[in-house]
Amino acid sequence: MARDDRFDLSVTKKNMEYAAEVAKDKRLTGDRYKLSVIDPEYGDGKGNSHGRYDTPRTPLEFNIEEIKNFKYDMDHCIKCKGCYWVEHTYNPGVKFNVRCPSNLWNDFDAFGAMGKMRIGLGVIDGSLEWSPTLLQVLYACPLCGACDVACKRNLDLEIELSLESLRVKAVQDGVAPLPAHKTAVDKIIETGNIYGEKSDRKAWAKDVKVAAKADTLYYVGDNTSYKNPQIAQATATILNKLGIDFMLLDDEKNDGNVVFSIGMVDLARKIAKENIEAIKATGAKRVVVSDAEAYRVMKVDYPKLLNIATADLGFEVVHILEIAAQAIEDGTLVLTTPVDTRMAYHDASSVSRLCDDWTPYKGERGWMGMIYPGQRRRRGREGLYAQARTIMAAVPGADNTEFIRIRENTFDICAGRGTDIAFPALTKFATSHRLDEAKECGIETIVSADPQCRDAFNAYKDPKDGIEAIDITELIVKAL
Ligand code: SF4
Ligand code: SF4
Repeated sequence: MARDDRFDLSVTKKNMEYAAEVAKDKRLTGDRYKLSVIDPEYGDGKGNSHGRYDTPRTPLEFNIEEIKNFKYDMDHCIKCKGCYWVEHTYNPGVKFNVRCPSNLWNDFDAFGAMGKMRIGLGVIDGSLEWSPTLLQVLYACPLCGACDVACKRNLDLEIELSLESLRVKAVQDGVAPLPAHKTAVDKIIETGNIYGEKSDRKAWAKDVKVAAKADTLYYVGDNTSYKNPQIAQATATILNKLGIDFMLLDDEKNDGNVVFSIGMVDLARKIAKENIEAIKATGAKRVVVSDAEAYRVMKVDYPKLLNIATADLGFEVVHILEIAAQAIEDGTLVLTTPVDTRMAYHDASSVSRLCDDWTPYKGERGWMGMIYPGQRRRRGREGLYAQARTIMAAVPGADNTEFIRIRENTFDICAGRGTDIAFPALTKFATSHRLDEAKECGIETIVSADPQCRDAFNAYKDPKDGIEAIDITELIVKAL
């Protein structure tokens, strides 16, 4: 249409005449234009629907234990690299605008989700053989979910589940776990914790009130029990202060996070069942965690392994963040001691974009990849984003700021899900990159709800930068 035609009503009239002609088409009946692509009457006029629109439906299940369930997702990656960059509508500049730590560490596209989707296709059709390099590409990735939430902004492809299914396939084919992961798993089997520690797991529980029986159970986790006992003490102090009685498991064991993340689903399922049984045996209605990875694995991966919904676990899983933020909003937790620092919250993937509830899905896929029945996709929007910020806003004296990459667009530092165990160089690289971002933003204190992140920041920080990382529970206790 020529520019001046915009005001020529005869053009509108011509369009209406054309539409009327279209409407006379015998294939289109009734009193409205039935051009909807799912209209069964749109066919050859003899009751046969148009072939393009009635692609036979095929069974579909979001089950990571059969990689072929994700062939469609792998096949429909358009290599747009949306899983690499954070869109400019969210972030300014390009210096801190990459969302995939794995692909930032190694520029070959294989390290990004788009490469791994093609690897998956090669594994499925047998054209690609397992090799040490292939396994490195697959496992040098924290399964952080950045690619998944980004891809789902344009295409409803299940990228995170595809990545998980690739690891399960590597284990099924006998080429994984990697040696470093195998050592960690052996320690878990032998001692019940990933460090192979034989000392008292509850040594931290001094000077705090622990109930023999309560509705709330505090699951502490390996890292907090052995490496960061002050986080367990801070969590217990907060619960005591709020008058929330809590108990501990008599014989707490590893949560199965790394075992699941490296694709050893049979062992992970055994751990999940044992932990769920142990929790249910206490009669607890609510499990409180202070470890981000325990939060994700219990809330999302236990149900995934057991083919049930998060709501059917039999107890609620909450992070201490949620309890503290609610108490601040209710006025039952008041922070009074000034903390003079410029601080920002680091959204750890395992309490943020990976934490939408899990619901099993079994259905069919049809035309244009549509699934029947429809399902509410997990887009990473239901994680714990607001809670830490509510808590930090209540700390007197603090100057709160933000990283450049926040919320669903956070940058994972590769400190968890077993990445640090097999690829410490990647953890160091990603953490140093995030520390550079902190420096750029003038952040003095990085607040985290993931003890693994706290440890990595403090391990790789440059003392000259004057940046320190603390857990959100430590911050709360400091500000009481
Ligand atoms: S995985 Fe998704 S976002 Fe990434 S390149 Fe493929 S289609 Fe694009
Ligand atoms: S899970 Fe994270 S690190 Fe792995 S490919 Fe996706 S964005 Fe990259």
